[in-house]
Amino acid sequence: MIFRIFFKSLLVLILLLTGCSTVTEKSDLPPCTQSDCTCSDFTTQNEAQKVLEAFPNDPYKLDRNGDGIACESLPIKRQNPAEHGNLNTANSHIRYGNPSNANATDFNNYLLEKPGYVLSYNCKTGIANWASWQLNRSWLGNVDRSDNFRSDPDLPDNCYVARPSDYTRSGYDKGHLTPSGDRTKRKSDNSSTFLMSNMIPQSPANNREVWRELEEYSRYLVSKGKELYIVAGGEGKEKLLLATHKSENKTNKITVPKYTWKAILVLDKLGRIENTIAVRIPNSEKVAQKDWTDYIISIDELEKITGYDFFNRLKPEIQREIESKIYQKP
Ligand code: MN
Ligand code: MN
Repeated sequence: MIFRIFFKSLLVLILLLTGCSTVTEKSDLPPCTQSDCTCSDFTTQNEAQKVLEAFPNDPYKLDRNGDGIACESLPIKRQNPAEHGNLNTANSHIRYGNPSNANATDFNNYLLEKPGYVLSYNCKTGIANWASWQLNRSWLGNVDRSDNFRSDPDLPDNCYVARPSDYTRSGYDKGHLTPSGDRTKRKSDNSSTFLMSNMIPQSPANNREVWRELEEYSRYLVSKGKELYIVAGGEGKEKLLLATHKSENKTNKITVPKYTWKAILVLDKLGRIENTIAVRIPNSEKVAQKDWTDYIISIDELEKITGYDFFNRLKPEIQREIESKIYQKP
């Protein structure tokens, strides 16, 4: 009998608590949710996204193109760096997804957020698994190449932090993942593309020819009014660069990837998903005289090879449609 009363009151308590918490959540939402919301009711995309997520059937039609992202035209409020590792889309560079669920605890999939790009750094290979960045006109200007290659001060202790000298006389270039040429609006953003965490050892023919040509093509698309979300990385192991530092009796190893790859989501002038571009290019001199279009594959294929899920914030049916296609350069 005592037990029955106990359980009954427990049940009432649980009901009360869950009831209360839903009330608090809804009262956190902007006042327009009481009547009718439009994108103009919000000052940032984050606020609109919160409402869309609270009402998944989208009664206010905040997600007109049905990609799961509300009011694309609104500005994104930057994530507080103190919230490092919190996997939300407040960071515009991973607005469409964090392909490997990079986080603050796995040192081989370590989320590193910069104002100009986001990385998944791998302390074991000494290079990033991937870099992800937004590219539109707001990042492009007239700032000169900083050329200040240096170690990244933001990596965790016990993590191998690559240095410019690790690449010296290796036969490989210090190859940018996020290109210097994509960050020419602010000096600070350009400078941060020269952090060694944004570099992979890249064969000169790859870096200076095919890879560069795809970088230029991406900026050409932006000049035509498109907005791009780009993810780039290396895959496989061609060899290791062995770097012995005089001050330490330890040899450090940097992985030279066998291939370099890129996954690009292209939005049109109105912010609608237009298509995708994916390439996988051998990281060797045999790509000299080749065109980047010779290495186009589908995003689906690249997902299989790398094990990452690109653009996973998009609805599955939209991913299925755009990720199976092979890009046709117009
Ligand atoms: Mn380069
Ligand atoms: Mn995907």
